[in-house]
Amino acid sequence: MLFGRGKKNPIKIADKGVVDWRYTTCGYCSTGCSMEIGLDKSGIPVATRGVGGADVNQGKLCTKGIFEHELFRTDGRGAQPLIRDRYYESFQECSWDTALDKTASEIQRIQDTWGRDSFAIVSTGQIMTEEFYTLGKLTRGVIGTNHYDGNTTLCMASAVSGYKRSFGSDGPPGCYDDFEHTECLMAIGSNLPEQHPIIFWRLHEALEKRKFPIIVVDPRVTMFAQMADIHLPVTPGTDVVLLNALAHVILDEGLEDRAYIDAHTSDAAAFEKLVEQYDPISSSRICGIDEDTIRHVARTYARAGSAMTIWTMGINQSTHGSDGVVGINNLNLITGNIGKPGGTSLSITGQCNAMGTREWSSCSGLPGYRKLESAEDRKQIADFWGIDEDFFPRERGMFQTDIFPAIESGQIKGMWLIATNPMTSMPNTPRIRKMLEKLEFLVVQDVYRDVETNEYSHVFLPAAVWAEKEGCFTNTERRVNLTRNVCEPYANSKPDLWIFNQLAKRFKRDRKPHFPNTAEEVFEELRALSKGRMLDYSGMTWDKIEQQRGIQWPCTDGDESGAARLYTDGQFQWDDGRARLIPLSFVDNNETPDEDYPFWMNSGRVVEHFHTRTKTGKIGNLNKFSPTPYMEMNPDAARELGVEHGSYARLTSRRGDAVVMVQLTHRVAPNMVFIPFHFHECVNRLSLGLLDPYSRQPAFKQCAVKIEMAVDQDAAAVTNVAARTY
Ligand code: SF4
Repeated sequence: MLFGRGKKNPIKIADKGVVDWRYTTCGYCSTGCSMEIGLDKSGIPVATRGVGGADVNQGKLCTKGIFEHELFRTDGRGAQPLIRDRYYESFQECSWDTALDKTASEIQRIQDTWGRDSFAIVSTGQIMTEEFYTLGKLTRGVIGTNHYDGNTTLCMASAVSGYKRSFGSDGPPGCYDDFEHTECLMAIGSNLPEQHPIIFWRLHEALEKRKFPIIVVDPRVTMFAQMADIHLPVTPGTDVVLLNALAHVILDEGLEDRAYIDAHTSDAAAFEKLVEQYDPISSSRICGIDEDTIRHVARTYARAGSAMTIWTMGINQSTHGSDGVVGINNLNLITGNIGKPGGTSLSITGQCNAMGTREWSSCSGLPGYRKLESAEDRKQIADFWGIDEDFFPRERGMFQTDIFPAIESGQIKGMWLIATNPMTSMPNTPRIRKMLEKLEFLVVQDVYRDVETNEYSHVFLPAAVWAEKEGCFTNTERRVNLTRNVCEPYANSKPDLWIFNQLAKRFKRDRKPHFPNTAEEVFEELRALSKGRMLDYSGMTWDKIEQQRGIQWPCTDGDESGAARLYTDGQFQWDDGRARLIPLSFVDNNETPDEDYPFWMNSGRVVEHFHTRTKTGKIGNLNKFSPTPYMEMNPDAARELGVEHGSYARLTSRRGDAVVMVQLTHRVAPNMVFIPFHFHECVNRLSLGLLDPYSRQPAFKQCAVKIEMAVDQDAAAVTNVAARTY
């Protein structure tokens, strides 16, 4: 029993009747919190608590994690495979054999008719690493389509691309422990307290022990900006200009780490020549930050003994997201802030296992950061899997954001979607709907039968959720965590690994890889394939991972634990061992506000919801705390348009319109509005989604809209409710 103020009204924590606590890892975000699920005497999950000894969260959980035990028995779960009737109107329940036979035969029919690459596969950041690896083996080694990607293209593709361009490989160099050592932290486009509350708590703990400056770059006065020492309300889409200007000041004033540049980087001369053009005065006219502040921030960052930059979607989801990441890496390379405690570039990842898909899914290459373009890498994997090397393509296929338009052009005829929901997550919803309707065959594999995209499927495969299965997730700081299963799969749903293995049996190939039955056996393949590589798992076992509450890679054979940081020796993954300093010219290619559409529309997350609300939209308390699509709008702008707090407004872009509830706040500038991206038929009816040329990630965060009061407020309320209802 706890006591409230004055000890008059004791707060009672209900006894949930837990008889057994089971260890697992949170299945929402990439923080990687260790948790225990409490089971009652009937084996029903009834409670969740954090694990005190876990390095990542030390017993804490955010509001999503606290209610995660409710996920197992929420409405809308897929209980049985479904197949459309012959008129493609309604779903009928069917056996697993029927659903899997139909799926395999349709994939083969489409490939036989239209070619191997006419069938596309798009997966997720949500399933286990062992499942990603198995899906990659099935796709690359058996089905053989090259148009295979993950929904991580909507989220982390720019970070991946930027790391590869600068360092020669993907892989976040830093870790949470860097907060304990840094002397200056800059966050760009990252509202850490709401997006990643437990990582924020780690930062806050470090700040309580030792004061160091926090600089937040964000067009909106986010919760993070409110506690920052310096807030830079940058003009949307101009991060590269700001980063070049910071580099300009550092080089101009001789604040760079010349010894590090000379020893560990290449192409410095071209980079330095380019940033000469980005003096603070000219840059301030583009990025909206005054010249004195640019100079002050550059000096603060460069003079710190160690400095780090973290970022999330504010950088990645842009027409130059990859350049933004490279710009951050440039800044850290010229100041010698890579691979040392407190000095790093650290992308804060989104989904619980977005890192696992990057490492092992084979979406953009082959397992263990191997490249399709490398003959040696193709041979290693072909030999390991026991297949013909010529079966592999010589370069990666389309990204998710190019796969969908290829349905329009007739290049893609069939698709398999795994734990992803493009009807809510992709830009320009009306266009996505038409694309899905055009497919000859769509199979949706998901935990929930009521996921919006399932309306367009021909077959639905019900998957087990999160801790109904076992396997690993890799978190933001390269920590491999173990998710133990705490209960059996719901009804007749099945683990994704089982589904992949059953489908593999249905394809005939002369030489086929072996598909192990258990996830732990699959993990042994990961250990073998990663031995001696940067991404080394060979020193890990499942038991060891559980005992240590996660192990960071690389963890080489014989090591007791993993490595906290990459590139500590200044050796990078390019052939010459040097990191690239890359000149970045700013290209102003985005949609910007004009007379017809005078407001910037920015989008982001709220703490209560995760991505398209497929899971959190079904948790009572999370919906109660964040029930409805809303828009943050500046009171001065609202007054001019006659828009009132708590009323409904219609936003219109060149793509479509959406109705949202108005919340007036000075967190946004008069020419900007902010809307959470989680709700169906909302933000992505408006977004444009121009793509980054390197990462193919959409610019979700920057488009232009106009605003008017909804004429019929009652009808608007109904539309608004529809956007949040399952
Ligand atoms: Fe789960 Fe992320 Fe919350 Fe931790 S911070 S409990 S990993 S949602």
